[in-house]
Amino acid sequence: MAKKMTSLDELYVDQLKDLYSAESQLIKALPKMAKAAGSSDLRNAFEEHLNQTKHQAERIERIFSERGNGSPKGKKCVAMEGLIEEGKEIMQEDMEEAVMDAGLIAAAQKVEHYEIASYGTARAWAQQMGYDRDADLLQQTLEEESMANEKLTQIAESHVNVQAR
Ligand code: FE
Ligand code: FE
Ligand code: ZN
Ligand code: FE
Repeated sequence: MAKKMTSLDELYVDQLKDLYSAESQLIKALPKMAKAAGSSDLRNAFEEHLNQTKHQAERIERIFSERGNGSPKGKKCVAMEGLIEEGKEIMQEDMEEAVMDAGLIAAAQKVEHYEIASYGTARAWAQQMGYDRDADLLQQTLEEESMANEKLTQIAESHVNVQAR
């Protein structure tokens, strides 16, 4: 274990590193999910979110460089590792196309919910500590995660869940 943490700021930096790891893992996983998607709108949604995810990682890098606080690298988000592992389990199954798409959406929505919870907390802590610029950047990412989640719901409800029945 690292040395005793005595401030919210230290925990904030630690959790931002965790989020940076989460985003970095997703940059590798999302292309595989896009490839496994059968429907073109689901594939496009994954590709579009991959692009956003790269910007989200950059926002965390910007927060660290503006603080003069080194690099966000060096921590592993074990929760994201597990969520991605569950996505891999789905992809390894032999499934009819629409059933696979329903499974991919389920896995991806678990990821988005994890990110929404994590960014919501990080933004609240930034606001509490008066880090207004950080709070703005974290809010931008939070909105993208929410929109990604809603897009997946829309794809599921508009056709995937019907075709998978
Ligand atoms: Fe993200
Ligand atoms: Fe995490
Ligand atoms: Zn973690
Ligand atoms: Fe996301």
